Amino acid sequence: MAERYDAIVVGSGLGGLTAGALFAHAGKRVLLLERNANFGGAATTYSHGAMTVEGSLHETSDPRRTFDPKGAVFEALGLYDDIEFVPAPDIYQVRGRIVGEPFVLPHGYEAIEDAMSARFPHQASNIKRFLHHVRRALQALDYLGGAHSAMWRIAHAADLPLELWALVRDFRASVSEVLERFFGDDEAVKIALSANLHYYSDNPDECWWLLYAMGQAGYIESGGNFIKGGSQQLSNRLVKAVRDEGGEARLQCEVFGVELDTEGRASGVRYRTGERAVETVAEAPVIFANAAPHRIAEMLPEEAREAFMAPYRDRPLSITLLYAAFGLTRPPAELGVTHYSTQLLPDWVQKLSDYKSNADLLAAPPGDRMPILAVVDYSQIDSGLRGDGLYSLSADTIDQVSNWEGLDPAAYDARKGAWLAAITRRLDQEWPGFADAVADSTIATARTMQEYLNTPDGALYGFAMHPPRSGPIKAPMNVATSIEGLWLASAYSGSGGYSGAMGGGAAAARAALKAETPT
Ligand SMILES: Cc1cc2nc3c(=O)[nH]c(=O)nc-3n(C[C@H](O)[C@H](O)[C@H](O)COP(=O)(O)OP(=O)(O)OC[C@H]3O[C@@H](n4cnc5c(N)ncnc54)[C@H](O)[C@@H]3O)c2cc1C
Repeated sequence: MAERYDAIVVGSGLGGLTAGALFAHAGKRVLLLERNANFGGAATTYSHGAMTVEGSLHETSDPRRTFDPKGAVFEALGLYDDIEFVPAPDIYQVRGRIVGEPFVLPHGYEAIEDAMSARFPHQASNIKRFLHHVRRALQALDYLGGAHSAMWRIAHAADLPLELWALVRDFRASVSEVLERFFGDDEAVKIALSANLHYYSDNPDECWWLLYAMGQAGYIESGGNFIKGGSQQLSNRLVKAVRDEGGEARLQCEVFGVELDTEGRASGVRYRTGERAVETVAEAPVIFANAAPHRIAEMLPEEAREAFMAPYRDRPLSITLLYAAFGLTRPPAELGVTHYSTQLLPDWVQKLSDYKSNADLLAAPPGDRMPILAVVDYSQIDSGLRGDGLYSLSADTIDQVSNWEGLDPAAYDARKGAWLAAITRRLDQEWPGFADAVADSTIATARTMQEYLNTPDGALYGFAMHPPRSGPIKAPMNVATSIEGLWLASAYSGSGGYSGAMGGGAAAARAALKAETPT
């Protein structure tokens, strides 16, 4: 006998959890199936010996900020009472020869203007204009994004032409193009402003300015925030939201088939569960695909695959990361780490376009060149990660699955171990005493991401944010698929990150509810 539900969610990443929780909140019976032993996908926090490892979160914008896609979800599900956002004091510190003395990018447009103009006085007027441009791009998207009432639009109509100008002018632009327009070849300024580029892309020439501006504006306006206790708190709270409404959320259930009815509409899934991989059928007229569309395609009847994949087949995938986690016996601050987030640039990075060569470094054992590292010292804020154990610090860098292909298990482990040791040495060089303070450490590669999340090429942010160079400009958010009742609810729905994945899940839930409403 098949189990029957109103909706089934395939995967428990933030997009799937959000769709499932909102659908359950609307009175629907939801079944959420996750193949791993933990809910949350990338949004997970786990123990490794005495060390607590945050699986992904460096920072996310505060949902209370205008135009934050997480805001409506937090409101609807009452998450503010249980999820505490801990602000990081600054966006980042950047350390590297190109910027000279370590430079701190603070929060807030005015503070950035002051700090940047003090360091780069010859660029003061361009910095001011640039920050204005970031703000305007966001305002224009906000205006067009549908979050406002008709009254609000009328009240702000006078601002529209200027805001739209910012949007239209740069609609097809890359980050490189916009930065060059403002700062020419002044690479130090560009890097000071965009040292965290690798949160978005490995290539400034192919990183879409508008999505980048939206993300940066989020950090500028609300600061980067951590979730107290780790991202697992958010994932678990969303699971609770499903269960509180009578839904079910199950671990170690791997979906391998998506069923269609005779009209070609989504009608259920087949999944394996338990140690003996018992095959089970569950039926529902709505399916939220949190797993990547590439994986969902493999689950569909063969005749439906091509049409389903047509919109996605040619879209390049987003970046993936290599991630090293350390448990220290001493607070990193005692070793000289001064900021929550540090962008550590090697000497070979002399221009923003040098970021392009970073990922290739991991295709070989560590050599002379170390990669760019984004370092997060969780003990700089009240992160709630330490407990009674070690001080948590992470360092990650852009990676690619091809770097690890063709290695047998022993060679793969040896290469991973060599990189973990090299990253430890690099951090010890920057902050002497670091290596001695490390009591435990672990490393995850692009291959780990691919295997753990079941995402093609280890992509962590859905599709790449390439600028739309030609053709009609399509809405970045697209949750509908070629199959009625099957919705994308993940970073692949629009954009990635915590905000993008939750926004995608919320859009999928809204679309599914709307489709059910008789017109
Ligand atoms: C190291 C790292 C650092 C990051 N830093 C940040 C950051 O600072 N800020 C930020 O905003 N974002 C960050 N991100 C990105 C962010 O975490 C992701 O974009 C987002 O969480 C993706 O959510 P998702 O809903 O697309 O699903 P995912 O997290 O990709 O989860 C998909 C889930 O589906 C499950 N699944 C797949 N196939 C099946 C199947 N057949 N059956 C059942 N279940 C299945 C998987 O097991 C997985 O649990 C980071 C990610 C990583 C890994």
